[in-house]
Amino acid sequence: MKCSIGEKFSQGSLIPYGNIELSPCSGILNYGQGLFEGLKAYRKEDGRILLFRPEQNALRMKAGAERLCMPSPSIEQFVGAVKQTVLANERWVPPFEKGSMYLRPLLMGSGPSLGLGPAPEYTFLIYASPVGSYHKRSLNLVVEEKQHRASSGGTGGIKTVANYSPVLNALSRAKAQGFSEVLFLDAATGKYIDEASACNIFSVKGNSISTPPTHGTILPGITRKSIIEIAGTLGYQVEERPVAIDELLDADEAFCTGTAVVVTSIGSVTHQGRRIDYKTQADTVCQKLHEILTGIQMGRLADTKGWMVEVN
Ligand code: PMP
Repeated sequence: MKCSIGEKFSQGSLIPYGNIELSPCSGILNYGQGLFEGLKAYRKEDGRILLFRPEQNALRMKAGAERLCMPSPSIEQFVGAVKQTVLANERWVPPFEKGSMYLRPLLMGSGPSLGLGPAPEYTFLIYASPVGSYHKRSLNLVVEEKQHRASSGGTGGIKTVANYSPVLNALSRAKAQGFSEVLFLDAATGKYIDEASACNIFSVKGNSISTPPTHGTILPGITRKSIIEIAGTLGYQVEERPVAIDELLDADEAFCTGTAVVVTSIGSVTHQGRRIDYKTQADTVCQKLHEILTGIQMGRLADTKGWMVEVN
């Protein structure tokens, strides 16, 4: 789908996967005017294909587009295009025990803007790929001691492409040392946890579950929001508030959430050379939440919250 600034997106079309045309002076290439989303399509046992809360992705893209001075497709256009993409690639949606289809909606300034300013033309596209299920039992995190992911008033709360290149350095260093993810601290004080490079973080102590608030420096994860709701209905005391790194290191359990990781235990956090190990074995809060969320996503449990959207 394409549109010019000040206009609405026109109806798009399906085209085979391949290179696309882009002005060398495009808003995305020169000024980072780009946003993306990530969501999955799941195939139920009966063959039906379901999307998990796609309107939430549409809303997040809309909020990001406003921040970056971009027009965005309507919620209906976004969800309709996602459904159309899945239907056209239906044979590539694996059976649920094998994985899902990952969808990547992308919105960018595709027209030329030599001087700094919003691009005159925009492109919204979606590509898709089958992905296996995420099998990691737990993740080992290392705290990034020098670099930060986002600062207050910046763009940490939106899914702009420009948020991801600054984490590559820390992520590559962490992986080279054998860690699975990096944990970023807040830029203002360095005392509180923000999030990892592609997932939100939760800390568990007794019956209470805490996660940092979405005040602009972390991405408002759709999995995060859903887990907060599920945990509340299970009777946990859930708090969205600043979580000090010292508090996380003292937690009984920790886990992370995201479209890719779903809900995965954190096995350890290493901070200033000190490694803390957490409970990851049977009977964790993480496992209970994982069971319910994946049950809803794969159609094993009743979708009482109306989260799932049927495609076929
Ligand atoms: N934080 C960041 C930085 C991410 O890239 C993601 C993945 N989209 C998340 C959190 C989790 O968000 P969601 O649950 O919507 O996938």
